[in-house]
Amino acid sequence: MTGLVTAIRQYDGPPVRFMEVCGTHTAAIAQNGIRSLLPETIRLVSGPGCPVCVTVTAYLDRLIALSKEPDTVVVSFGDLLRVPGSKGSLSDGKAEGGRVRMVYSPMEVLDLAGKNPDTTFVFAAVGFETTAPVYALLLKQAKEQGIENIRLLTSLKTMPPVIEWVCRKGQVDGFLAPGHVSVVTGSRIFEPLAERYRLPFAVAGFSGESILAALYGLTKCRGRGTVLNLYPSVVTRDGNRQAREAVEECFAPCDAAWRGIGIIKGSGLRLKAEYERFDAGSGGLMEDREANRSCRCAQVLVGRLEPAGCPLFGKACTPAMPQGACMVSTEGSCYHAFLSAEGG
Ligand code: SF4
Repeated sequence: MTGLVTAIRQYDGPPVRFMEVCGTHTAAIAQNGIRSLLPETIRLVSGPGCPVCVTVTAYLDRLIALSKEPDTVVVSFGDLLRVPGSKGSLSDGKAEGGRVRMVYSPMEVLDLAGKNPDTTFVFAAVGFETTAPVYALLLKQAKEQGIENIRLLTSLKTMPPVIEWVCRKGQVDGFLAPGHVSVVTGSRIFEPLAERYRLPFAVAGFSGESILAALYGLTKCRGRGTVLNLYPSVVTRDGNRQAREAVEECFAPCDAAWRGIGIIKGSGLRLKAEYERFDAGSGGLMEDREANRSCRCAQVLVGRLEPAGCPLFGKACTPAMPQGACMVSTEGSCYHAFLSAEGG
């Protein structure tokens, strides 16, 4: 690692901004103190790859409303519970009588639904290419087993359209490409973007060494439309075909709303007709631009603003009292910037 730090500090080109797209990279960069190892000419900005952070408030409002419907239980991963909607979070909804249950795997819903046939279980299906195959598997098994009391409220998104949206803004010189997403999609998914915008992409793992190697690779390939795979132990060029086929069986591309960005064409996944009966009303959940106007997640998520540049950062907005999704999620950039500032 020392050799990599020395090599990267010898970078003598013009100032560059590299974006880490994935929330897990954001967390790993903070935990390994990577920013403090870089020369001033290399800036790292966080992108829109934390699934909870980019989920619009209208989605959370709908989940809260569903949790208060009779004979209905909303099932979710823990990281979504405290994300603010327009009038409160899912946790607030639970305190007001909503029925909310936290699980560690979507597959737990099969068991819950099988044992409680008179209750409808609505899973908060949030995520990217990495988690979409698990939701596909859940639906296929529910269908096979004849379990009809499962619904998904989907907010599933795909990476290439939002990365292209960032590319078009022209403020980033290269991407630390998401490692987990690449396991499913393969590194080839970034090749068209790299060529079109003449930008380097480096697929990286999550150790400090892997991230530094990827950043070094990006400096070496600056200005070139190249895709480097620096995570070859788990990422191939072609990815996991079986997982992609499962997703294609259940989901079709659709337009999707991103918190702080708005609608990006073809960046979401909706249930196909054959599985539509499992939908909990996911259509039309668009960005509510009036919700918490003072939160700057919108700019933070696309690398236009550092978390500390938000006037609420560390004052009205802390992990104990989050005002925006970037402070709630353990993959959020505000959350990690706060911990770093506190010496955590
Ligand atoms: Fe939003 Fe809080 Fe981050 Fe400001 S510090 S952008 S209010 S999450």
